[in-house]
Amino acid sequence: MSTPLTPHTRDDDAGARLIEPLYQEILRRNVGETEFHQAVREVLETLGPVLTKRPELVDARIVERVCEPERQLIFRVPWSDDAGGIHVNRGFRVEFNSSLGPYKGGLRFHPSVNLGIVKFLGFEQIFKNALTGMPIGGGKGGSDFDPKGRSDAEVMRFCQSFMTELHRHLGEYTDVPAGDIGVGGREIGYLFGQYKRITNRYESGVLTGKGVGWGGAQARTEATGYGCVMFTDEMLRVRGQDLDRRRVVVSGSGNVALYATEKAQQLGATVVACSDSGGYVVDEKGIDLDLLKEIKETGRGRVADYAERRGRDAHFVAGRGPWEVPCDVALPCATQNELTAEDAAVLVRNGVQAVAEGANMPTTPEAVRVFQEAGVAFAPGKAANAGGVATSALEMQQNASRDSWTFAHTEERLAEIMRHIHDTSHETAARYGAPGNYVVGANIAGFELVAEAMLAQGLI
Ligand code: NDP
Repeated sequence: MSTPLTPHTRDDDAGARLIEPLYQEILRRNVGETEFHQAVREVLETLGPVLTKRPELVDARIVERVCEPERQLIFRVPWSDDAGGIHVNRGFRVEFNSSLGPYKGGLRFHPSVNLGIVKFLGFEQIFKNALTGMPIGGGKGGSDFDPKGRSDAEVMRFCQSFMTELHRHLGEYTDVPAGDIGVGGREIGYLFGQYKRITNRYESGVLTGKGVGWGGAQARTEATGYGCVMFTDEMLRVRGQDLDRRRVVVSGSGNVALYATEKAQQLGATVVACSDSGGYVVDEKGIDLDLLKEIKETGRGRVADYAERRGRDAHFVAGRGPWEVPCDVALPCATQNELTAEDAAVLVRNGVQAVAEGANMPTTPEAVRVFQEAGVAFAPGKAANAGGVATSALEMQQNASRDSWTFAHTEERLAEIMRHIHDTSHETAARYGAPGNYVVGANIAGFELVAEAMLAQGLI
């Protein structure tokens, strides 16, 4: 038995009592998948009030069904390096829930990837995608392949081998992957090329995050980071504040972090720190984004290189996360469980006002409690980073209609969607007796949308 669930609201005893045994059963059936357990737990802890109010969802066993993926694929990915050496990696695709649309969610290439991580990401994706209001189901995939230090030719051979197996499970009406950690424009290009070659179809809508010249959407690259900052701005607005002249700390320096930095700067904030797995860099005058992009996007370098190139204005701290740098707004944009309760306590002590998750589940549950108890505005990833997948759905829409929109139009749609997700989460939290609690609001709103569709579609 693990520690019992800690429900978020008071009037949920009946629902919470129903959920505890379900959670124990999930632990029993998914042994060792700790990140999946954590993601399920975080959702179940908020569902008590819905189940109390809506016994038909209990009778239909919606929670049990939603926690069980529709399909889990695990496959071998053999490939050869530039010296002719043979490598064998493991590929995953978890097709979690298709009640709202084709499975949709990114691919992650990182040595830490295992089934539990893919399932946690796929599970989150179901509710995130529902919150966008777009017709997309939830899924996720990836591999324990590490693209770091590999040549373009090696990455291409890996992607071709990966797609040679995965293609049979994909399709624009079936399953539509995109990027995630370690999978950017280069990888999506190689994956799409191989899919096209095997199927002999130019099926643009089968992958998103494509290059703008060959079916990709304007603003997709920017969308997750931009959307996260737009959400933060909405949260601050509710409190009569905004981002102008705020000090912001971002973790990571990949796709999400770079464009969160860009949007925060556009809204008048100063981003004073960012990081990678080697450590963090502080630049009190504000991160020079052109330089950081050159190092990270073009050169695939490190933030330590940034500090060196920037000279006296910046300094690098090795082997630590950036949360000790005082700030008004913290945006964890790197990876899961990167912000602990100790980090949260330091942030609170230094006066943080708002925290929004650009990454998936970067804040540990204990850290979330620290923020909530201190009255810090806290946005969970499934709401705050949904701008990426929403813009992927806009990419699918453009592909289906053989159209392409301008950057300004796409960004305007993204802003509308982020406002919608914010308002839905905010209103749902209030309706279920947890005003200001975006974790409760986002989980319940997403769950209700999926549950309605599952009820309507029979026993699926
Ligand atoms: P990238 O690969 O572009 O960047 C990841 C960044 O996080 C890098 O700076 C990387 O540093 C750092 N990082 C990765 N693993 C670790 C670790 N174990 N410890 C410390 N730092 C780490 O990925 P994305 O920016 O695309 O993704 C970042 C997060 O955002 C992930 O949680 C992803 O699931 C989530 N997300 C991404 C979306 C997207 O559209 N890309 C959409 C929604 C969520 P280093 O280079 O040193 O590894």
